[in-house]
Amino acid sequence: MYTLLNGKELSKKIKREIASEVASIIDSGKRSPSLAVVLVGEDEASKIYVRNKIKATKATGIISHEYKLPESITEKELIETIRFLNNDDEVDGILVQLPLPKQISEEKIINLIAPEKDVDGFTPKNTGRFYIGLNSLKPCTPSGIMEFFKEYNIKIEGKSAVVLGRSNIVGKPIANMLLEKNATVTICHSKTQNLKKIVKNSDIVVSAIGKAEFIKEDWIKKGAVVIDVGINYNEAKQLVGDVDFKNVADKCSFITPVPKGVGPMTIAMLMKNCLTAYKMRTK
Ligand code: NDP
Repeated sequence: MYTLLNGKELSKKIKREIASEVASIIDSGKRSPSLAVVLVGEDEASKIYVRNKIKATKATGIISHEYKLPESITEKELIETIRFLNNDDEVDGILVQLPLPKQISEEKIINLIAPEKDVDGFTPKNTGRFYIGLNSLKPCTPSGIMEFFKEYNIKIEGKSAVVLGRSNIVGKPIANMLLEKNATVTICHSKTQNLKKIVKNSDIVVSAIGKAEFIKEDWIKKGAVVIDVGINYNEAKQLVGDVDFKNVADKCSFITPVPKGVGPMTIAMLMKNCLTAYKMRTK
């Protein structure tokens, strides 16, 4: 029998803890932490992500300021918006929802966000500090995954872990976090050979490749811990992960569902980063 890693419940618990901390900040007469959310254009998925993030600020008592900017905005105008938010003392976190329209360099915009307000943990400064083990704001999705290990007392040290995917927002940072906790980590990508064999030898599997139900039952070692980051639609247009959950789950000791697994944890950790940024800025 496997244990389901319930991201919906755990994220609620984390948000309750944040809400109580925010409430005591307000009770002590100080202002609330605040998050500026910048949404450019009309991308439907981005609108849903932003809506969910704003909802989470309301649930935690964090003040949110939403900046809805037109698809046609120039890079210069967006740069001015970010500079304005960087300089606004009452903004603790800045989140620029990606992707941005093609006339705008994402790299340029991310680089511009003040590192102390970088609640996505994407700026080069936070990234560099994170990889050399210094205090930093860390990317939300991998931080959320690590909360599962903590909450469910899952041992990492000495285990063999495989991470499928090497993006800067999920694959690389989760690999580093598992490494920090003394797992032996293999990072796989689209050019990896013998992928199935590597996965089969792993105690911990984190998949972030974005391929519907790609990982099958015969890939998984009995008793493995499986974390499914993927958000995909299968042929029946159902929302599914990278893992063929129905057939894989019984082989696992722990597994995340999709939905209600990693997704809600990402948003909870964004709130946590916002509170951390506030505390760092106001201490
Ligand atoms: P990217 O597209 O940036 O990266 C995908 C990675 O998967 C790449 O490193 C790619 O390799 C690798 N890959 C692709 N195909 C294969 C394959 N057949 N075998 C092995 N590796 C492969 O994706 P993201 O990291 O941004 O996201 C990954 C998934 O996670 C997506 O479904 C996304 O929607 C989801 N996601 C979910 C979040 C959540 O909160 N639940 C948050 C962020 C993402 P290569 O580098 O060689 O191209």
